[in-house]
Amino acid sequence: MTMSNSSTCGAELSPRYPFLDLAAVNAPYAARLAEAACRVIESGRYIGGEEVEAFERSLAELVGTECAVGVSNGYDALRLILRAWVEMGRLQPGDEVIVPAHTFIASMLAVSDASLVPVPVDADPLTMNLNTALVESALTPRTRAIMPVHLYGRVCWDDTLAYIAASRRLLVVEDCAQAIGARAAVAGLSGSFRAGALGHAAAISFYPTKNVGALGDAGAVLTADRELAATVRAIANYGSDRRYHNLYEGANCRLDPIQAAMLRVKLSCVAEDNAARFARAMAYERTIGRRDLIRPMMSESVTDCVWHQYVVRYTGPSRDLFRRRLLEAGVDTDVHYPVPPHLQPCYARRHLARTPLPVTESICRQAVSLPIAGALTVADAAAIARIINDLEI
Ligand SMILES: *Cc1c(COP(=O)(O)O)cnc(C)c1O
Repeated sequence: MTMSNSSTCGAELSPRYPFLDLAAVNAPYAARLAEAACRVIESGRYIGGEEVEAFERSLAELVGTECAVGVSNGYDALRLILRAWVEMGRLQPGDEVIVPAHTFIASMLAVSDASLVPVPVDADPLTMNLNTALVESALTPRTRAIMPVHLYGRVCWDDTLAYIAASRRLLVVEDCAQAIGARAAVAGLSGSFRAGALGHAAAISFYPTKNVGALGDAGAVLTADRELAATVRAIANYGSDRRYHNLYEGANCRLDPIQAAMLRVKLSCVAEDNAARFARAMAYERTIGRRDLIRPMMSESVTDCVWHQYVVRYTGPSRDLFRRRLLEAGVDTDVHYPVPPHLQPCYARRHLARTPLPVTESICRQAVSLPIAGALTVADAAAIARIINDLEI
């Protein structure tokens, strides 16, 4: 996950171009955030209530889905969806869920946390998303669900995925943590559909570094399925559908009204904000040119990819050296992600990788995320690109 100034290069520098300055991200909203915070303080309502409900309505409208349930964070959103499907009898413990091998570990933890079995499938070297051509061969009689992750903001959805999901009657849970506001063209359907409304349910994260960030942890579940939404809402509130009546052995995973108020301010600017990310990505795309660097596939429209991260792949001998030199030249970078989930110690004994996952492992060795958010201008992105081109290494 991205933290501000999370350089691992060790240089005690304050770089001209920080990787992500969260105070700068929120500065343009400061007055409206303060006003919203005052409204909550004065309301006397600090759990649930109108603030949360108004946020849920705005989010459902933005994504174009029937129901939105505000929850504590993106990981809980994923866990709650899977847990609800187990409670509803749509999944059984031990069922397999196809997940991309290349993702933030929360995608996979949510599956194993619900007593389901994550089956990682390798990445597509072009999109860095789940390679949908490999899904068919990962299916077994126990496969019941699939989790497309719209990694780095790029929609992960195509005819192959749609066909497999429909013909095998798989439940589709989107990990939309990095892709709020993204849209995809869907074969056989007219128009485009927003990420978060492509499957049976979707999880969104409002972690502060995400495209729409709260001032703390926050998340949401999106679905057109009212029964699922009600089950998620109950499980997230001690399993209780009404006061002192507990249907499930639930948890406390509610969204705080104070964060809902912050998010109502920030949701109103998501299109503008994503467009600014696209413009920066275009500047990188036009200017970066080095033989030892692979640029990410450029998106055709402003919405195919909402550029949560702009991730280049460095194919030279030492990524650490490349990043250190860049930092010395004033450009801080980050790595998403240095170790894939299936190679993390927590999964060592489970042998998740049934087949080799070479693309994922090579992305994890090569990935370098460039600054893409906050106060960064298009001119800054072009300047960073020129620094990269001129770097002697
Ligand atoms: C951030 C993220 C999550 C988890 O969201 P939190 O709100 O941090 O719990 C899950 N999946 C992906 C792909 C993410 O980037």
